[in-house]
Amino acid sequence: MDLHKLSLKDQLEGLKKSEFTSVELTSHYLKRISDHDEKFNSFITVTEENALIQAKAADERYKNNKSLPLDGVPIAHKDIFCTKGVRTTCGSKMLSNFEAPYSSTVYTKLDEQGMVMLGKTNMDEFAMGSSNETSYFGPVSNPWDTEYVPGGSSGGSASCVSAELAPIATATDTGGSIRQPASLCGLTGIKPTYGRVSRYGMIAFASSLDQGGVVARSAEDAALILEGMSGHDPKDSTSLKLPSPDLTKNLKNSIQGMKIGLPKEFFEKDMPSYLEQSIQEAIETYKSLGAEIVEVSLKNINLSLPIYYIIAPAECSANLSRYDGVRYGYRCEDPKDIEDLYMRTREEGFGAEVKRRILIGTYALSAGFYDAYYLKAQKCRQLVANDFTNAFESVDVILSPTTPGTAFKAGEKNDDPIEMYLQDIFTIPANLAGLPGISIPCGEHGGLPLGMQLVGNSLQEDKLLQFAHSYQSNTDWHKKMPNI
Ligand code: GLN
Repeated sequence: MDLHKLSLKDQLEGLKKSEFTSVELTSHYLKRISDHDEKFNSFITVTEENALIQAKAADERYKNNKSLPLDGVPIAHKDIFCTKGVRTTCGSKMLSNFEAPYSSTVYTKLDEQGMVMLGKTNMDEFAMGSSNETSYFGPVSNPWDTEYVPGGSSGGSASCVSAELAPIATATDTGGSIRQPASLCGLTGIKPTYGRVSRYGMIAFASSLDQGGVVARSAEDAALILEGMSGHDPKDSTSLKLPSPDLTKNLKNSIQGMKIGLPKEFFEKDMPSYLEQSIQEAIETYKSLGAEIVEVSLKNINLSLPIYYIIAPAECSANLSRYDGVRYGYRCEDPKDIEDLYMRTREEGFGAEVKRRILIGTYALSAGFYDAYYLKAQKCRQLVANDFTNAFESVDVILSPTTPGTAFKAGEKNDDPIEMYLQDIFTIPANLAGLPGISIPCGEHGGLPLGMQLVGNSLQEDKLLQFAHSYQSNTDWHKKMPNI
């Protein structure tokens, strides 16, 4: 049986009904990884032995009627989530041999519900990038066409789910790193409200923006696992003091009479005609499902990219100062003195994009420039958040493309960082405002998938998933998978 063709939800059902065992399911995926991942490079580490131990334990629990809520279902984790006993690299030479002394809350929660970890997925170094070409462990390719990028920074997670080497994967999103790769690989990717998912043990990039989530093959699968990852964590001071939400409750409810906002500023931009057409078709589908379309204005939205490229580098320059060759990971050989140790460790341990961000961030935070750049960016960030607050007074969700186009060719944007940064033009605003966002497949162009994004008001992941599920119950885009 082609177990990987079953949805995650059906895999869980199958395990419950003893149609197959977790060892069979897990071995099936491990074999697919060993047969195919050479082409994609989506995993940094495959934890075969551990996975089979976890799977056996799940099977035992089923046998003894002691099963856990997500028992025996495999998952891949982005290599940004610390896993005790298994190295966590964050895609960097700096942490290439780092074994965390504790596990992230995301890993622990899913482990405690019985999920089986297949391995750790490839990513842009320290989650900085939009193409998965900045990883110390080599680029990841898009299973739809290996000459193209899978998006980033969660490119390994998106690539392995799209190639059906894992039924689902965790990911993180600071400016678009869940939604953009989901869009480029034909998947459903959701970034929840800031604070919904604990950041404890999730290696920090820009702490006020970073948020964990998942890439999946459908909204239904995403809901199941996101629910399992969410909830208050006393170990993360920014974690919201709320229990894990019930994300499957409203999933099947009709969206009749609900309102979708189209931000006019986004639709005024030059869009490739194929993208405009796919988005128009999606809007028509929503209308036929009873949704009302309303124009909204996010008048400060054009400030988003510049704001992000001050705040994210500023916070990263502070977060990454801990990699000094003393406490974590890589240390240069034979340092002459302490200064030489710091300088050479960082020079040799970090890649070019990470250094670029640290330089920009250090500059923006330096005395004399703090007020002009960082403080100003924080103030403008509030303006963007206010625009969303106003818009959500009249609509339930806001719809736009996820990315400016389909996947691009590997190497195509490497010489022009600004071109690369523009990939996130539609996704960054939700991070600045701390709002939940989802990307779902809505078309295809030149054999490559396309996604649309829905952004919801704070804590309304359930509504986003409801809109996504309602679309997916009436269209087939999310069912198309690449031939690998
Ligand atoms: N592509 C964006 C960046 O490079 C977003 C990254 C992310 O969301 N982690 O900063």
